[in-house]
Amino acid sequence: MDLGLKNKVIIVTGGYSGIGEAIVREAAKEGAIPVIVGRSGERGRALEGELKQQGFDCLSVAAELGEAGQCEQAIAQTLAKYHRINALVNNAGLNDGVGLESGSPQKFMDSIQNNIFHYYAMAHYALPALKQESDSSIINISSKTGVTGQGGTSAYVASKAGQLGLAREWAVELLPYKIRVNAIAPAEVMTPLYEKWLNTFENPAEKLHEITKRIPLGKRMTTSEEIAYMALFLISGKSAHTTGQIIYVDGGYTHLDRAIT
Ligand code: NAP
Repeated sequence: MDLGLKNKVIIVTGGYSGIGEAIVREAAKEGAIPVIVGRSGERGRALEGELKQQGFDCLSVAAELGEAGQCEQAIAQTLAKYHRINALVNNAGLNDGVGLESGSPQKFMDSIQNNIFHYYAMAHYALPALKQESDSSIINISSKTGVTGQGGTSAYVASKAGQLGLAREWAVELLPYKIRVNAIAPAEVMTPLYEKWLNTFENPAEKLHEITKRIPLGKRMTTSEEIAYMALFLISGKSAHTTGQIIYVDGGYTHLDRAIT
């Protein structure tokens, strides 16, 4: 299936690591132009350089997304180079363990700033450009924790649930412009973020085994590429009548009957 993404400018926040990196790499392979937005200019430039060496067009933009001005700047830099934005993938985030007992009101707000604030800010600043295109779209990468909870991560989970709500809310608000908005809820994907979380347990290998044996389809983690394929399908015109949806790419982990695991 040709997704028809050639020359589509796709902004991916958190685009040089984990799920975001996979979306960037797969977008490039589809002929799209990924814009890698992340806080480390060095890591962004490294991925940009690698992709360009392989013959792909792309751009990296350094931005601390917790600051509105830097979100605005990231959009401005994209437009200065390509003069259009076809899709925004809100993906950057950090499962930072700000819990009800372990955190504080200030830590909660800081985490909200780092996890959901920029989903809104990036969409807000990208909107005028998205309105100029036919069938443009926004993808919010959320998490199964937004519907199941996790324990000890109040701000992260509030953000993940909020991202699902925003996908529905924006799908409605942006209907007049035919901008589609969908969310993807991964569950267990081996990325630097996941590895860091796993390492907070006394025996990470045992914890990983405990988790994977409960993943119904294949008793394995989801790959970052499997999230990327879904994101690109949702961005593409092949899903032109899909909006306001939450897609669980998780091997059945969130919804299938526990009796089968
Ligand atoms: P990752 O490998 O750590 O990638 C996250 C990226 O976001 C990193 O590049 C990080 O930059 C960047 N980032 C975070 N906060 C930022 C900020 N304020 N400004 C700029 N960049 C920022 O994590 P991942 O696992 O791929 O996670 C990607 C998304 O998937 C997240 O929204 C996460 O909640 C979601 N998710 C992941 C899983 C999973 O199992 N991995 C499950 C459910 C949901 P630095 O590395 O420079 O800090």
